[in-house]
Amino acid sequence: MSVRVVARIRPLLEKELDKDIIVHAASTEDGKPTTLVRIPSPKNGAEEFTFAFNSVYDQQTSQEELFTQEVAPHLKALFQGLDVTLFAYGVTGTGKTHTMRGGMKLAERGVIPRLLSSVFRRSKKIAKDTNGGTQVSVALSYYEIYNDKVFDLLESPEKRTPAGLPLREANGKTHVVGLSERPCEDLKDFEKLYIESNLNRVTASTKLNAHSSRSHAILRVKVTQTTEEGVLESTASAIDLAGSEDNRRTDNGKERLVESAAINKSLFVLSQCIDAISRGDKRIPFRESKMTRILSLGQNNGITVMILNLAPLRSYHLDTLSSLNVSSRAKRIEVREIENEIVYKQVPRTNSGNIQGVARQPLRP
Ligand code: ADP
Ligand code: MG
Repeated sequence: MSVRVVARIRPLLEKELDKDIIVHAASTEDGKPTTLVRIPSPKNGAEEFTFAFNSVYDQQTSQEELFTQEVAPHLKALFQGLDVTLFAYGVTGTGKTHTMRGGMKLAERGVIPRLLSSVFRRSKKIAKDTNGGTQVSVALSYYEIYNDKVFDLLESPEKRTPAGLPLREANGKTHVVGLSERPCEDLKDFEKLYIESNLNRVTASTKLNAHSSRSHAILRVKVTQTTEEGVLESTASAIDLAGSEDNRRTDNGKERLVESAAINKSLFVLSQCIDAISRGDKRIPFRESKMTRILSLGQNNGITVMILNLAPLRSYHLDTLSSLNVSSRAKRIEVREIENEIVYKQVPRTNSGNIQGVARQPLRP
């Protein structure tokens, strides 16, 4: 079981009036990127906090680069039967949807379409290399969790019941009862389905008077490999999480409070699970939220990557700090005066690509 927590700082947007950049990826003397994010203290501008990650991607990082570094290396494992889970976490407006879904232009495509593209390419190659001895099929499920209720995004919003879909445990796994699954032959198939279901999400959201930033959207790609010997099944899940900002600060409506409580709870449980996995604990508290339950987070021999999206601007200051504090393993490792030079220590890598003990790595003053 391995987990990586990485940070991605988005660039400034054209329309943005606040141009005060306060979040930085620390760099070494030779200009190499580090694993550290720096942000000033909101109380004392002369003080700065530093947070450690497995990797930090700065404003210049392209979609391709992020995919190549953080997702592509896990495709082999997926086809060997491991489950791969990718989360985008962060405040609304920091680039979660951009990271996961991305733009329409080829270069702007996010993790999800790139993942599917790689899955199809690999499937074809396996079928070819085995002379058809291994058949690979791909099927999609797409759903959202809003106020701790599960809604199928492959179905039209009219079919939604207020209570959402029930969960059931069978063979040690949690299933969403009645969740649809669609076979997907190629990238074109996928894109059509994905665009349609994202429209379902928007329509349903307006009806429920909820904004997409307050639900978790989970895309599940099931890869089934069939040979004469048997069937190997594994899943890649890509999750665009609800915004981690404190909704209570901006709106006191009752509905918001309910949403806010549901979001906070599930994001808290998620971070607890990531913590437990990275510590190598036997007991992962995955049962304590629907999202982590459905994903059986940490229960199988899988790979988890959490991408913390950050906006570099002062207007996000408090929310950014709290997202840095919550994203587990991204521990605050030092409080220092701004004038100090950062002494960067290379973090050792293990064979699995999992970086050990980042949070515990002491920084020399
Ligand atoms: P979130 O889903 O976290 O609320 P979005 O993905 O919608 O945030 O991003 C907010 C805005 O910032 C969008 O206009 C998006 O296109 C833009 N954006 C986010 N990340 C990047 C990036 N790395 N490069 C260029 N634009 C970005
Ligand atoms: Mg979004």
